[in-house]
Amino acid sequence: MSGRMRDRACPQRTCVGCRERSDKRRLLRVVLIGGSLIPDLRGRLPGRGAYVHPVPACLEQAVRRRAFNRAFRGPGPFDLQELRETVERAATTAQATP
Ligand SMILES: [Zn+2]
Repeated sequence: MSGRMRDRACPQRTCVGCRERSDKRRLLRVVLIGGSLIPDLRGRLPGRGAYVHPVPACLEQAVRRRAFNRAFRGPGPFDLQELRETVERAATTAQATP
């Protein structure tokens, strides 16, 4: 099994934090710009992207595993401030999700 399923209706990506596959729309795309990890909220930023669930637990796991270093092939450390703020904001507004 290759593990790569193709589903045109609902593209899947792997979260770099928990390593679970999710609908792309449920994941936050992150790009590296000038040493900073920037959340690509509109899905329009160019370049290599990494996907993470917009929850602090997944972000912290990704940082601990150095998943971003692997995803962007850089030694880091990367500036996570904007990404952290976005994830924290998303986590507080997503409380009502069933
Ligand atoms: Zn995750």
